[in-house]
Amino acid sequence: MRILLAAALVALLLLILAGALTIPFAFESPSMWYKFGMEKVSLRTGKMLGLAAGLLILLQLPLAGRLKWLDRIFSLPGLIRQHRLHAWAIVILALVHPLCVLLPEGTLIVPLEKRYWPEWIGVGLLIFILSQFAVSRWRQSLGIAFHTWLRFHRIAGLLIAGLLVVHVLYVSESFSEDGLPKLAVAVAAAAFLMCWLWVRSSWFRVRRKPFLVSRVQLTGSDCTCVELTPATPTLFSYIPGQFVWVSFASATVSQEPHAFTLSSTPSRPGVLQFTIRACGDWTHTVGSLSIGDRAFIQGPFGRFCHLFTDPDRELIMIAGGIGITPMLSMLRFMADHGDPRPVTLIWSNRSKEKMVFTEEMEALAAKLTALRLIPILSRNTKKDERTGRLDHRSLETMLRGCSRGSAIYVCGPPQMMKQVSTDLKTLGFPARSIFSEAFGL
Ligand SMILES: Cc1cc2nc3c(=O)[nH]c(=O)nc-3n(C[C@H](O)[C@H](O)[C@H](O)COP(=O)(O)OP(=O)(O)OC[C@H]3O[C@@H](n4cnc5c(N)ncnc54)[C@H](O)[C@@H]3O)c2cc1C
Repeated sequence: MRILLAAALVALLLLILAGALTIPFAFESPSMWYKFGMEKVSLRTGKMLGLAAGLLILLQLPLAGRLKWLDRIFSLPGLIRQHRLHAWAIVILALVHPLCVLLPEGTLIVPLEKRYWPEWIGVGLLIFILSQFAVSRWRQSLGIAFHTWLRFHRIAGLLIAGLLVVHVLYVSESFSEDGLPKLAVAVAAAAFLMCWLWVRSSWFRVRRKPFLVSRVQLTGSDCTCVELTPATPTLFSYIPGQFVWVSFASATVSQEPHAFTLSSTPSRPGVLQFTIRACGDWTHTVGSLSIGDRAFIQGPFGRFCHLFTDPDRELIMIAGGIGITPMLSMLRFMADHGDPRPVTLIWSNRSKEKMVFTEEMEALAAKLTALRLIPILSRNTKKDERTGRLDHRSLETMLRGCSRGSAIYVCGPPQMMKQVSTDLKTLGFPARSIFSEAFGL
């Protein structure tokens, strides 16, 4: 069903794109009438590239807008990856579009005359697109905090969409006169605006169903376990391994929403648990939350869950550091349901102090008799522990007896996930069986 829906949506988008690309053929503007040969081809290609870029720009909002129904079909991390890929395509199309349009005019510069204002809007649009791309791509090197960036990214996105609509409507007679192309732009702009209003109002909807902080506890050397209970009788349903955006109304912790996996299991409803590693400004403050502080949850999102695979399939879980949280949720769920299938959990940490829920992990290993728990400590000094790094050789040894048909779940630091996925493939595990969750969107 999900695959069918995904295929239908992609087909619909391709149909819309194909429809948009026919406009420079079916609704030729007067500027095309006096062009012949390569000049006409260049102008028409330029218009088609511009329209493709425009469509991709409008699609950027639903891709990154945290829409639950889209998450169920494609999964939010996949949509965000697509959002990034689109950004590259938009930049390339937006750069080539003016070249193709201006070349037949024998110039690459838009004349500084009042009547060319729609073209100048296009120049502004290009500058905005390039700046938006560059700042997003090099945010960390520029020293811009994630939430400052996100705020400006959203404003700039709206501005780009607005400039785009004005540019398209006024730059070419195909769109400025009443007809199908103008109607199509109006419908696209209205759909974008509605989507924007829905996305922006999501936090108001979320605030209607608050949660209360019921437990805050330090766990491991630098993690805080935060538990929430609903403030009103609400049913919050999720599946193991999913994540949410959570924000707190607290005197000590700023309100910005952050993404965290629910380390709790839906098989024990009534309490939501997060296990948060202190790694930046905000996560360092989370331990100062007070019991009774209000919390707001947007989600759940994601498809990083063993329930989406065949119930008889062997499982391999590979976690790096705090990447254990989705595995913890899945294992707790499996233990509560007496799931008998074989699971191998490789859990890599720098040191024993960095490990969280060690006692519970041992209890889970005792309860889930088919669970093989393999902890690895990469910076261990004691000889009695399993020391070493997750590399090709150690993986080969640890996974020797595992079925090549296993479903594999990998979560941890980006570099580790990349390396582990490559190693798994060379060890004969097919890429389609490897599911990964990155802790950065
Ligand atoms: C799907 C998902 C699940 C996660 N689950 C867990 C978990 O179970 N436990 C845990 O400790 N951490 C988890 N994280 C990571 C957690 O979101 C970041 O560590 C935290 O937001 C960092 O905030 P900071 O301000 O303290 O750090 P900063 O230094 O400000 O941020 C560090 C990096 O975290 C990312 N980040 C910051 N804020 C956000 C945000 N609101 N949304 C998305 N990314 C952001 C950015 O890439 C940033 O560069 C998860 C992240 C994602 C995307």
